[in-house]
Amino acid sequence: NVEEEQSTEKYREGLSKTRTGFTSKINDLVARYRKVDEDFFEELEEVLLQADVGFETVIELMEELRYEVQRQNVKDTSNVQSVISEKLVEIYEAGDQELSELTFAESGPTVILMVGVNGVGKTTTIGKLAQRLKNEGKSVMLAAGDTFRAGAIDQLDVWGQRVGVETIKQSEGSDPAAVMYDAVRAAKSRNIDVLICDTAGRLQNKVNLMNELQKVHRVIAREIPGAPHEVLLALDATTGQNAMIQAQTFKEVTEVTGIVLTKLDGTAKGGIVLAIRNKLNIPVKFVGLGEKLDDLQPFDPQKYVYGLFA
Ligand code: GDP
Repeated sequence: NVEEEQSTEKYREGLSKTRTGFTSKINDLVARYRKVDEDFFEELEEVLLQADVGFETVIELMEELRYEVQRQNVKDTSNVQSVISEKLVEIYEAGDQELSELTFAESGPTVILMVGVNGVGKTTTIGKLAQRLKNEGKSVMLAAGDTFRAGAIDQLDVWGQRVGVETIKQSEGSDPAAVMYDAVRAAKSRNIDVLICDTAGRLQNKVNLMNELQKVHRVIAREIPGAPHEVLLALDATTGQNAMIQAQTFKEVTEVTGIVLTKLDGTAKGGIVLAIRNKLNIPVKFVGLGEKLDDLQPFDPQKYVYGLFA
């Protein structure tokens, strides 16, 4: 399957920094120790922690590794890598797998709300997602719900034009809920399959953010029962612990159904995928592996692990 091959290749390319930062360190360890012993485990733990895998996940992984190494009677460090790969996939897939796919409305427009702090790649992600859905044969519309940040409306509009989909917008400073109302009505009347809504990304004022997102939510749900079908949170993989804090905050103010982890290609600490899964219990639905339109890929733990050790 050509598409699957291309996607796997994207993972391999996109994770090259992580391979130099993380995988090569594991390889060094393997070469240096040869025999699996306690010192080896300790250094391995350190490498995992440095790759943003997250404390809890590292502890869990190390426990499982020790167990597997004993059970399979692995003595030689060169066999440890395959055990690590297996365990990484297992840990990731321990949750509900279907959760990593997008939920679509049974009839009428599917509404996807994009949330996230400014600069994480939210607008770019909307453009890429619109392109992806369009390629699948769906009709797509955008809603310029970030009426606060200067230039946000135009930026979204430019993406819309590039992809060839309409953007519903009002002037800067207008009420985001009013934009959403217009957009939802337009999507319904024009039989649009998917409406992707941008939102403001002000985290400085949590109460404002919560009020705004709740209002937007209400307006959408009133027009389309069951909507929004997805609330996707964009997080920047290069920001490590900050991304985790943002996720916690957004989880408190709205019902996040999935995460888009952007700029995974820009970090050597690609282990953050695992930390998010384990600590927040929100599925990573897409990863950003570059700046091009087709660099947004559905998250796939198998391809991810392949990319780590390719
Ligand atoms: P927003 O403020 O959250 O809407 O952020 P933008 O969508 O404007 O993106 C900010 C910058 O991040 C832009 O320069 C994008 O090209 C870049 N960007 C977004 N996603 C990715 C990605 O997956 N990989 C890389 N390398 N850059 C990205």
